[in-house]
Amino acid sequence: MTANRLIIAFAVLAVAVALWLVATRPGGREAETPTSAPAAGAAEDHGGGSAAPVPEPPEQDPRFGTDPERYHLPERAVDTDDIPNIVLRADDRDDEPLPYYRIAPDTYMLYGNIAEVDRYNRGFNGNAGFVVTSEGVVVIDSLGTPKLGRRLIATIRQVTGAPIRYLILTHNHPDHSYGAVAFRQLGGVTVVAHEGTLDYLASEALERSVAYRRSFIPQDMEGFEPVVPDVLLGGAPRRAHLVIRLGGRTFEVWDVDHHHSYGDLVVHQVEDGVVWISDLAFNHRLTFMGDGSLQEALAGQEWLLERFKDARLMVPGHGSAQSPPFPMVRRTRDYMRALQDFMTRAVEEGLDLQDAVDRAEKDPRFDPWRGDRLFELNHRPNANFVYREVERALFED
Ligand SMILES: [Zn+2]
Repeated sequence: MTANRLIIAFAVLAVAVALWLVATRPGGREAETPTSAPAAGAAEDHGGGSAAPVPEPPEQDPRFGTDPERYHLPERAVDTDDIPNIVLRADDRDDEPLPYYRIAPDTYMLYGNIAEVDRYNRGFNGNAGFVVTSEGVVVIDSLGTPKLGRRLIATIRQVTGAPIRYLILTHNHPDHSYGAVAFRQLGGVTVVAHEGTLDYLASEALERSVAYRRSFIPQDMEGFEPVVPDVLLGGAPRRAHLVIRLGGRTFEVWDVDHHHSYGDLVVHQVEDGVVWISDLAFNHRLTFMGDGSLQEALAGQEWLLERFKDARLMVPGHGSAQSPPFPMVRRTRDYMRALQDFMTRAVEEGLDLQDAVDRAEKDPRFDPWRGDRLFELNHRPNANFVYREVERALFED
């Protein structure tokens, strides 16, 4: 319906039309009845976790959550190790703006907590952003609940009265996409996402993660509905991109395949040299790999460093933004490579999965990342995931 505003550009390689999918679909469709089995070892925040349809409020490990006794807002959101500890409350108003930072001309970032979702951060455990142009606003990610989506809109309203024209969802994970319904209800917002998002909307993982959030932040999840994107892209990873031109600014939306979720995007804000890299690299916390692909992630990171080496700023899905040479990308890549090397050896030596994961947990080769937030939560599932991917790859050879 709004696809006429989009110019679809084909990049370098002359890929067949079949490789490039852009579809227009109506919004607001209910998720289909789930059929797939739960993904083993996946954490809730990535759409997996407990299989119970109506779970009890969870026991959460405070080491991975938000400290309710301390409200802390860093002075800046670029090139800093200062991590926010924003404490939200159930009775906060929907129209109360969230803290935000101006990180480039007309470019604003919401710098979320580095934590698992809990009742203190209430889903504000990832980043989002927006860019104001003379013809309207482009939003990147929607935060983790319908309420946070409404508060993100209130935040944008504090900066500009211009219409919100696009919401680009970098991927389907709850912390990035569950606020989207607020933008759908606003009307006039074209939602752009990876085509893999449709698989997520039809999965049991969605229902499970919504039920999980409702069990401990029900007020914030009120009004949740799956949002079917208006514009989908995929099928030509790192080779093709969608171009949105608005108010003299150009936004390239790149397909980066399913390296971290059911389908991942990177947004390049061309004139400003800002790249919204989503969860292709993490800053200040350990990545979670269990929902993606090691090979795709490594290929995506190399591509990111090469293609955007002249960029001025990269904004990750978690952690502060960074200027060149973007050490967070190499750091995340090096962790994945270390796991790949470790598990390739383990499989070749005939270690079984359990033994290999136990060894990876203690091995000093992972010491450089041991101090990162969520290491104790994510390293074992990552090790488990990489072992299985490496084993599959060796079998195929
Ligand atoms: Zn994320």
